[in-house]
Amino acid sequence: MDGGGTVDTQAQAAADGMPLTGEPLALELVNTTFVRGGVRGVLVDALRTPEDLDGWLAARTALFSEPLRAELSAPAVTGAHVARFRELRQALRDLAAARVEGARPADAAVALLNASARLAVSWPEFEPTPGGPARVVTRWSEPDSLLAALGEVAAAGVGLLAGRAAEQVRACPAPGCILYFVKSHGRREWCTVGCGNRVRVARHSRRAKADPV
Ligand SMILES: [Zn+2]
Repeated sequence: MDGGGTVDTQAQAAADGMPLTGEPLALELVNTTFVRGGVRGVLVDALRTPEDLDGWLAARTALFSEPLRAELSAPAVTGAHVARFRELRQALRDLAAARVEGARPADAAVALLNASARLAVSWPEFEPTPGGPARVVTRWSEPDSLLAALGEVAAAGVGLLAGRAAEQVRACPAPGCILYFVKSHGRREWCTVGCGNRVRVARHSRRAKADPV
């Protein structure tokens, strides 16, 4: 982690090395912290630097609204943006945990989510073009497109955690795993095949120890 040669590896992992992808946008953000290596594994934070956030966004442009995608083609990500995304990530994690446990969510997490969702406000404007047909241009109340993107993640979180899919949000029950997923089909029990295998192997070795031949 601190050797010169591992920096590239870290950046690579941030862009593509998430253990779980394909979840709704809000959970994609939550799952940028994960444990690598099971119960005695290490906690990995894949969203620490502007490069990390840049890579995370680049791999997920399809999850943002179509007009925003164009704005995000060459984002100027700063440390301040990273701090905002991390703050929202913590709020979403707290809210997902509360949802899964059936607990009342913390006021601070709710307030942060709702304030962030406001950054997603946009409207269409009529723009005449010289000699051609008029076109629709999208404007955001938040001029910084990265913060508008943060707003879309938050708005997606509102839709997920307060919407109909909320009942399907799960914390992976594998020991040592901290990932969240939406139970997309009836038999899905774990976040990934990897977690399922790990639990099966552990059960097997426990049984083997308890019942020596
Ligand atoms: Zn898992």
